[in-house]
Amino acid sequence: MSEEPWFKDGLNFKCTGCGKCCTGTPGYVFLSPSDINALVAHFKMSEEDFFKRYIRIVDGQPALIDEPGTFSCVFLENEKCSVYESRPVQCRTFPWWIHTIQTPENWKEAAVHCEGINHPDAPLVSANEIAIQTTTYLDNLIEQNFEFDIK
Ligand code: SF4
Repeated sequence: MSEEPWFKDGLNFKCTGCGKCCTGTPGYVFLSPSDINALVAHFKMSEEDFFKRYIRIVDGQPALIDEPGTFSCVFLENEKCSVYESRPVQCRTFPWWIHTIQTPENWKEAAVHCEGINHPDAPLVSANEIAIQTTTYLDNLIEQNFEFDIK
């Protein structure tokens, strides 16, 4: 019999759009082929041009570049995501990442950096919805292991 997760009664989260997770500290937004397809369609540019303009390779995987001279995502404009509808799965599924929801302590630690976690206006997200989001995050991680034809 499988054990119930510690968040079986759900967790409170609502993104306020503060943009803090997109700036301030070093980090990487890794892209799967689906993420790249979505962004290429968003910009209506060729995949080759997209790679030249927005991609760096980290540990053999494509990741978005930062705005030069900063730790801000290259797509952050006026503290908002400028590609919100086409944003990568890594961004879309935050904070439902394995590490973040692994323990109550990890969740509390994430709340220090993200005001949307346990925000007074945040709705309760059910354990079932959390599981769906975490599975999407994991599926995307697996997809990232595809071979890329890096130009
Ligand atoms: S830090 Fe949290 S609340 Fe702020 S934009 Fe990121 S996910 Fe949303």
